[in-house]
Amino acid sequence: MIVANWKCNGSKAMINEWTNNFLTNYVEMNKAFIGIAPPSIYIESLLETELNKLVEINIGSQDIDISSGARTGAISSDMILDFDCKFSIIGHSERRQLFNETNEEIKQKILKIAKKTITILCVGETEEENKNDQTRDILKKQLEVVRDIELNNSLVIAYEPVWAIGTGNTPTPNNINEIHKFIKDVVQSTSYNSAYPMVLYGGSVNQENAKSFFKEEFVDGALIGGASLDGKKFANIINIFNGTN
Ligand code: PEP
Repeated sequence: MIVANWKCNGSKAMINEWTNNFLTNYVEMNKAFIGIAPPSIYIESLLETELNKLVEINIGSQDIDISSGARTGAISSDMILDFDCKFSIIGHSERRQLFNETNEEIKQKILKIAKKTITILCVGETEEENKNDQTRDILKKQLEVVRDIELNNSLVIAYEPVWAIGTGNTPTPNNINEIHKFIKDVVQSTSYNSAYPMVLYGGSVNQENAKSFFKEEFVDGALIGGASLDGKKFANIINIFNGTN
């Protein structure tokens, strides 16, 4: 599973150029689930591009709100389902840090959406927590949001160390592999129906380092920010995952 998180980037012109670059470089192969989470206002533009007719691309949202109604600026789970979104990212560290999102709110969002579409729950420790050897404790706390929830294959976890996002720094592939195994075990032992989720790695993934992560046993794919803004780079990372590169 390879998912693009465009964050608050993009324009109609960018989508046209991105699509051309993607289509010129992507080697067709029915393996990776390919997802793009554009800013919500561009979801419809992306659904209407050539891309969708030529490649199986899944459009998703970068977040949902905890409810609908008098909540100016928010987007509800029903709205993204209305636009046929195939997944939603929940609990990204930027939402936690810039918008003060709490684990309690994240749990409410998961309860809203998990049974209806794929949920990509982001977890990850800060640089300080990493240095203090608190990574596993922090992840355990963040993963409490799935405790006793009935999950099917719709839950995917993205391990995104905050210190690796947009910095060019990453844990070693072996470290990532160990943490992914840990995450799978925690979710399996705490979710209501012992779900064993896919775990994606996110944080400065690019064309140069992707292969080193994808060869690890417990790395099921990647969530990609910066490198996903370039259609060529994103296509190349998918090709690496699919083994067509
Ligand atoms: C992200 O923010 O989800 C992310 C993985 O960003 P980047 O690839 O730019 O580090």
